[in-house]
Amino acid sequence: MAQLGSSNHSVYKVAMAISSVYPATGETLKTFEPHDKTEIERRLSLAESAFFSYRRTSYEERAELMRAMAEVIEKDQLAIAETMTLEMGKPVVQARNEVIKCVGVLRYYAEHGAAMLADEPIAGTSAKKGSYIKYQPIGPVLAVMPWNFPLWQVIRFAAPTFMIGNVALLKHASNVPQTALNIEDAALRAGFPEGVFQTLLVGGDRVKAVLEDDRVVAATVTGSEGAGRSVASIAGNVVKKTVLELGGADPFIVMPSADIGRAVETGVWARVQNNGQSCIAAKRFIIHEAIADEYEERYAEAMAKLVVGDPLDEATQVGPLATVQGRDEVNEQVADALSKGAKAICGGGMIDGPGWFVQPTALTGLTPDMRVYREEVFGPVASFFRASGIDEAIELANDTSFGLSSSVWTEDSAEQKRFADELEAGMVYVNAMTISYFDLPFGGVKRSGYGRELSPAGLREFTNIKTVYSD
Ligand code: NAP
Repeated sequence: MAQLGSSNHSVYKVAMAISSVYPATGETLKTFEPHDKTEIERRLSLAESAFFSYRRTSYEERAELMRAMAEVIEKDQLAIAETMTLEMGKPVVQARNEVIKCVGVLRYYAEHGAAMLADEPIAGTSAKKGSYIKYQPIGPVLAVMPWNFPLWQVIRFAAPTFMIGNVALLKHASNVPQTALNIEDAALRAGFPEGVFQTLLVGGDRVKAVLEDDRVVAATVTGSEGAGRSVASIAGNVVKKTVLELGGADPFIVMPSADIGRAVETGVWARVQNNGQSCIAAKRFIIHEAIADEYEERYAEAMAKLVVGDPLDEATQVGPLATVQGRDEVNEQVADALSKGAKAICGGGMIDGPGWFVQPTALTGLTPDMRVYREEVFGPVASFFRASGIDEAIELANDTSFGLSSSVWTEDSAEQKRFADELEAGMVYVNAMTISYFDLPFGGVKRSGYGRELSPAGLREFTNIKTVYSD
């Protein structure tokens, strides 16, 4: 793996510490010196020169490099997964699955990316000799990424980027620097020319300068609404495109015709996977009142059985939250709801340290004055609501500023169609939980962001969609 240097010089210190801290114990494992101005300049210049030649490579050459990178990551899967667990606390079995998924997405775009980017004839009537669209690379793209799926979020962006012919500058979350360096290292070992994929070890305070630099042409942000707003406004000022994948408070709606057993089992997993820290987690459970008693009871029972503990232990299903601030925030949201009359049908208490654990919790009796009603809850806490029918279910589901995904459980095809038509979300999953698949567009509406990742729609976000007209 990469040489993961650490040092304690204070000369170049910026506000945000870049370090790996094990969330199960709070122990600092490694601290990194942020890149200084000279190093950032060196990397920007390298990105520019790398783009100049990489853009001229063929799709087949790019695909070969992507396959090689998939192989490097596959070979190192155990070490890469363990590093993620140590940096952000996800159960190690889930970390390994994440690595395998990344290997898959690199191979998928190596195989299918070129077809998605092929010239596209237009069957229009404007041009005598015809017209067509070319999808061309645009340059170095800055990727501001979160820690929650520290490999997947990056590779989901990188695989299309490699195929398009753009180059990537990763500004990863400050608590996953080793994973960030592992990705750069894997790209280099796969044979990508230096500069095609680079990690900038910088805090959020350096993003403005990087994005305003003329050599950087666009930015993608996966993270909180605040980060998205900040990066998008900087980009707007210098007329650069952004894609924003932000937070979510996805509804998980269960109607009477649903298979309740599956809806319970999937609903628990959809809430607690990744220790409850997923943008597309099911966060608001909207259950038809005819089945609500049974659903809640079975859900609470299943939540109570989850194995909470050391994320390096293969039996662990729920580990600690990634940061102490995250743990405190979730505890405060739960305490706020309980103090205003909500009921915890499981969990609801605090777990004493060491480590930043939160009890898997399900809350009922929620009202709009409670924080959990409006805010994203980034931990293993499910909010329950009851609906008298589909109208109320849709109304409750849409009563949020977020619009990332949604999951609806019903065997009734008329209901399925209404949900698909009327839910204000970028995605609707029917009788399934939301998962980011290689071939499906991923992204949200409202304050969950804009633009798409993956699929032809995602692949083309950072291309010059060039019209060619011939008379
Ligand atoms: P975050 O605090 O917004 O951090 C995400 C990234 O943005 C980090 O690299 C962070 O850098 C950077 N950042 C934060 N504030 C910034 C600013 N003002 N200017 C420039 N960069 C800034 O989010 P998080 O707590 O890591 O992740 C949780 C959030 O991400 C949740 O809301 C979750 O729903 C969302 N998310 C969305 C998706 C999706 O696909 N829609 C996927 C995963 C997560 P530092 O670490 O250096 O602060």
